[in-house]
Amino acid sequence: MSNPYGLCVDAYPPGEGFVAVESAQATDPRAAPREELAVSSNRKWQTGQELRVSFLNGDTEVRKRIQRHAETWLEFANLKFAFGNFGRAEIRISCQGAGYWSYVGTDALQVDPREPTMVLDGFHGETDETELRRVVLHEFGHAIGCVHEQASPAARIPWDAAKVYDFYQKWQGWDRETTFNNVLRRYPGSEVHHTPHDPDSIMQYAVPSELTHGGFSIGWNSELSAGDRAFIAQMYPGA
Ligand SMILES: [Zn+2]
Repeated sequence: MSNPYGLCVDAYPPGEGFVAVESAQATDPRAAPREELAVSSNRKWQTGQELRVSFLNGDTEVRKRIQRHAETWLEFANLKFAFGNFGRAEIRISCQGAGYWSYVGTDALQVDPREPTMVLDGFHGETDETELRRVVLHEFGHAIGCVHEQASPAARIPWDAAKVYDFYQKWQGWDRETTFNNVLRRYPGSEVHHTPHDPDSIMQYAVPSELTHGGFSIGWNSELSAGDRAFIAQMYPGA
Protein backbone atom coordinates (compact mmCIF):
# COMPACT_ATOMS: atom_id res chain seq x y z
CA MET A 1 0.00 0.00 0.00
CA SER A 2 1.39 3.40 -0.87
CA ASN A 3 1.62 5.69 2.09
CA PRO A 4 2.39 9.19 0.84
CA TYR A 5 1.44 10.87 4.11
CA GLY A 6 3.49 8.62 6.35
CA LEU A 7 0.47 7.47 8.29
CA CYS A 8 0.77 4.49 10.51
CA VAL A 9 -1.72 1.68 10.09
CA ASP A 10 -2.82 -0.39 13.07
CA ALA A 11 -1.60 -3.99 12.92
CA TYR A 12 -3.10 -6.84 14.92
CA PRO A 13 -2.64 -10.61 14.86
CA PRO A 14 -5.58 -12.60 13.46
CA GLY A 15 -8.50 -12.48 15.84
CA GLU A 16 -7.01 -9.66 17.88
CA GLY A 17 -7.85 -6.00 17.84
CA PHE A 18 -10.21 -3.77 19.67
CA VAL A 19 -13.95 -3.61 19.73
CA ALA A 20 -15.08 -0.28 18.39
CA VAL A 21 -17.14 2.08 20.47
CA GLU A 22 -19.77 4.32 19.01
CA SER A 23 -18.61 7.81 18.32
CA ALA A 24 -19.72 10.04 21.18
CA GLN A 25 -21.22 13.44 20.65
CA ALA A 26 -18.45 15.80 19.60
CA THR A 27 -17.47 18.32 22.21
CA ASP A 28 -14.62 20.81 22.11
CA PRO A 29 -11.47 18.69 22.56
CA ARG A 30 -9.46 21.78 23.41
CA ALA A 31 -11.41 21.99 26.64
CA ALA A 32 -9.88 18.72 27.83
CA PRO A 33 -6.91 18.80 30.17
CA ARG A 34 -3.68 17.85 28.45
CA GLU A 35 -2.17 14.94 30.22
CA GLU A 36 -2.44 11.55 28.62
CA LEU A 37 -1.72 8.85 26.13
CA ALA A 38 -3.40 5.50 25.99
CA VAL A 39 -1.83 2.12 26.64
CA SER A 40 -3.45 -1.19 25.86
CA SER A 41 -4.04 -2.90 29.21
CA ASN A 42 -3.41 -6.45 28.10
CA ARG A 43 -0.55 -5.70 25.70
CA LYS A 44 1.90 -4.17 28.18
CA TRP A 45 5.32 -5.70 28.70
CA GLN A 46 6.52 -6.29 32.25
CA THR A 47 8.00 -3.28 33.98
CA GLY A 48 11.80 -3.47 33.75
CA GLN A 49 11.68 -6.07 30.97
CA GLU A 50 14.51 -6.18 28.42
CA LEU A 51 13.22 -6.34 24.86
CA ARG A 52 15.58 -7.64 22.22
CA VAL A 53 15.43 -5.62 19.00
CA SER A 54 16.79 -6.97 15.72
CA PHE A 55 16.90 -5.44 12.26
CA LEU A 56 16.06 -7.87 9.48
CA ASN A 57 17.67 -5.58 6.91
CA GLY A 58 18.47 -1.92 6.38
CA ASP A 59 21.27 0.57 6.03
CA THR A 60 23.72 0.72 8.97
CA GLU A 61 23.55 4.48 9.42
CA VAL A 62 19.76 4.51 9.27
CA ARG A 63 19.67 1.73 11.88
CA LYS A 64 21.79 3.83 14.23
CA ARG A 65 19.46 6.79 13.81
CA ILE A 66 16.44 4.59 14.48
CA GLN A 67 18.03 3.18 17.63
CA ARG A 68 18.92 6.62 18.96
CA HIS A 69 15.37 7.93 18.64
CA ALA A 70 13.78 4.72 19.91
CA GLU A 71 15.85 4.94 23.09
CA THR A 72 14.29 8.30 23.94
CA TRP A 73 11.35 6.33 25.37
CA LEU A 74 13.68 4.66 27.87
CA GLU A 75 14.37 7.96 29.60
CA PHE A 76 10.77 7.73 30.84
CA ALA A 77 9.75 4.06 30.60
CA ASN A 78 11.34 1.42 32.80
CA LEU A 79 12.13 -0.98 29.94
CA LYS A 80 15.37 -1.92 28.20
CA PHE A 81 16.07 -2.31 24.50
CA ALA A 82 18.91 -4.65 23.52
CA PHE A 83 19.73 -3.96 19.88
CA GLY A 84 21.59 -6.78 18.12
CA ASN A 85 21.35 -9.86 15.98
CA PHE A 86 19.29 -12.24 18.04
CA GLY A 87 17.90 -15.59 16.99
CA ARG A 88 14.72 -14.60 18.75
CA ALA A 89 14.02 -10.95 19.25
CA GLU A 90 10.78 -9.59 20.65
CA ILE A 91 10.89 -6.67 18.21
CA ARG A 92 11.96 -7.38 14.62
CA ILE A 93 12.27 -4.42 12.31
CA SER A 94 12.15 -4.56 8.55
CA CYS A 95 13.20 -1.46 6.63
CA GLN A 96 11.44 -2.88 3.57
CA GLY A 97 7.74 -3.43 3.19
CA ALA A 98 4.97 -0.91 2.91
CA GLY A 99 4.82 2.25 4.95
CA TYR A 100 5.11 2.34 8.71
CA TRP A 101 3.41 0.08 11.20
CA SER A 102 4.05 -1.93 14.33
CA TYR A 103 2.26 -4.50 16.39
CA VAL A 104 1.10 -3.19 19.76
CA GLY A 105 3.10 -4.39 22.78
CA THR A 106 3.02 -8.11 23.50
CA ASP A 107 0.99 -8.83 20.37
CA ALA A 108 4.46 -9.07 18.80
CA LEU A 109 4.92 -12.42 20.57
CA GLN A 110 2.20 -13.92 18.40
CA VAL A 111 3.93 -13.08 15.13
CA ASP A 112 5.76 -15.77 13.13
CA PRO A 113 9.41 -15.42 14.24
CA ARG A 114 10.51 -15.12 10.61
CA GLU A 115 8.28 -12.08 10.09
CA PRO A 116 8.83 -8.47 11.19
CA THR A 117 6.83 -6.98 14.05
CA MET A 118 7.56 -3.45 12.83
CA VAL A 119 8.06 -1.97 9.36
CA LEU A 120 9.90 1.30 8.82
CA ASP A 121 10.00 1.50 5.06
CA GLY A 122 11.72 4.14 3.00
CA PHE A 123 14.29 5.79 5.28
CA HIS A 124 17.64 6.58 3.71
CA GLY A 125 20.68 8.77 4.32
CA GLU A 126 18.85 11.91 3.22
CA THR A 127 15.72 11.38 5.31
CA ASP A 128 14.96 14.46 7.37
CA GLU A 129 15.79 13.93 11.05
CA THR A 130 12.49 15.35 12.31
CA GLU A 131 10.50 13.05 10.06
CA LEU A 132 12.56 10.03 11.07
CA ARG A 133 12.20 10.90 14.76
CA ARG A 134 8.44 11.37 14.44
CA VAL A 135 7.95 7.97 12.85
CA VAL A 136 10.38 6.06 15.08
CA LEU A 137 8.97 7.50 18.31
CA HIS A 138 5.46 6.73 17.13
CA GLU A 139 6.16 3.15 16.04
CA PHE A 140 8.17 2.35 19.17
CA GLY A 141 5.26 3.80 21.12
CA HIS A 142 3.14 1.04 19.60
CA ALA A 143 5.88 -1.52 20.29
CA ILE A 144 5.76 -0.74 24.01
CA GLY A 145 1.97 -0.89 24.10
CA CYS A 146 0.63 2.53 23.13
CA VAL A 147 -2.33 2.88 20.83
CA HIS A 148 -3.32 5.78 18.62
CA GLU A 149 -4.22 8.82 20.64
CA GLN A 150 -7.10 9.71 18.33
CA ALA A 151 -8.52 6.32 19.36
CA SER A 152 -8.32 7.13 23.07
CA PRO A 153 -11.67 6.63 24.78
CA ALA A 154 -11.30 10.27 25.82
CA ALA A 155 -10.77 11.64 22.31
CA ARG A 156 -13.47 14.04 21.10
CA ILE A 157 -12.23 15.09 17.68
CA PRO A 158 -15.13 16.72 15.84
CA TRP A 159 -14.60 14.72 12.63
CA ASP A 160 -16.70 15.35 9.56
CA ALA A 161 -16.97 11.63 8.82
CA ALA A 162 -18.07 11.93 5.19
CA LYS A 163 -15.05 14.10 4.39
CA VAL A 164 -12.74 11.76 6.30
CA TYR A 165 -13.87 8.76 4.25
CA ASP A 166 -13.46 10.70 0.99
CA PHE A 167 -10.03 12.01 1.95
CA TYR A 168 -8.46 8.66 2.89
CA GLN A 169 -10.06 6.95 -0.11
CA LYS A 170 -8.46 9.55 -2.37
CA TRP A 171 -5.04 9.89 -0.76
CA GLN A 172 -4.43 6.48 0.81
CA GLY A 173 -6.72 4.25 -1.23
CA TRP A 174 -8.37 3.08 1.99
CA ASP A 175 -11.82 1.54 2.00
CA ARG A 176 -14.34 2.67 4.62
CA GLU A 177 -13.47 -0.08 7.05
CA THR A 178 -9.77 0.76 6.99
CA THR A 179 -10.49 4.44 7.48
CA PHE A 180 -12.89 3.75 10.31
CA ASN A 181 -10.43 1.45 12.09
CA ASN A 182 -7.47 3.79 11.74
CA VAL A 183 -8.98 7.23 12.05
CA LEU A 184 -12.51 7.36 13.42
CA ARG A 185 -12.64 4.42 15.78
CA ARG A 186 -12.10 4.80 19.51
CA TYR A 187 -11.26 2.06 21.95
CA PRO A 188 -13.52 1.10 24.85
CA GLY A 189 -12.36 2.43 28.21
CA SER A 190 -12.25 -1.11 29.57
CA GLU A 191 -9.43 -2.09 27.18
CA VAL A 192 -6.99 0.74 27.57
CA HIS A 193 -5.40 2.76 30.33
CA HIS A 194 -5.82 6.35 29.37
CA THR A 195 -6.02 9.89 30.61
CA PRO A 196 -7.72 12.87 28.95
CA HIS A 197 -7.04 13.22 25.25
CA ASP A 198 -3.62 14.71 24.42
CA PRO A 199 -3.53 16.47 21.05
CA ASP A 200 0.25 16.86 21.43
CA SER A 201 0.89 13.13 21.82
CA ILE A 202 3.34 11.41 19.48
CA MET A 203 0.59 8.80 19.11
CA GLN A 204 -1.82 11.35 17.63
CA TYR A 205 -2.25 11.65 13.84
CA ALA A 206 -2.29 15.09 12.35
CA VAL A 207 -5.88 16.28 11.95
CA PRO A 208 -6.43 18.61 8.97
CA SER A 209 -9.04 21.30 9.59
CA GLU A 210 -10.81 20.45 6.32
CA LEU A 211 -11.81 17.10 7.82
CA THR A 212 -13.41 18.47 10.97
CA HIS A 213 -16.30 20.62 12.04
CA GLY A 214 -15.57 24.07 13.36
CA GLY A 215 -12.03 24.38 11.95
CA PHE A 216 -10.50 22.10 14.59
CA SER A 217 -7.02 20.87 13.66
CA ILE A 218 -3.92 19.21 15.09
CA GLY A 219 -0.49 19.50 13.48
CA TRP A 220 2.19 16.86 13.11
CA ASN A 221 3.73 15.97 16.46
CA SER A 222 7.38 14.93 16.23
CA GLU A 223 8.44 14.83 19.90
CA LEU A 224 7.21 13.05 22.99
CA SER A 225 4.73 15.41 24.63
CA ALA A 226 4.82 16.18 28.35
CA GLY A 227 1.77 13.94 28.58
CA ASP A 228 3.51 11.08 26.75
CA ARG A 229 6.47 11.25 29.13
CA ALA A 230 4.38 11.38 32.28
CA PHE A 231 2.02 8.65 31.20
CA ILE A 232 4.58 6.11 30.02
CA ALA A 233 6.45 6.68 33.28
CA GLN A 234 3.26 5.68 35.10
CA MET A 235 2.84 2.60 32.94
CA TYR A 236 6.44 1.47 33.42
CA PRO A 237 7.53 3.15 36.65
CA GLY A 238 11.11 3.36 37.87
CA ALA A 239 13.06 4.50 34.78
ZN1 LIG B 1 0.40 4.32 14.68
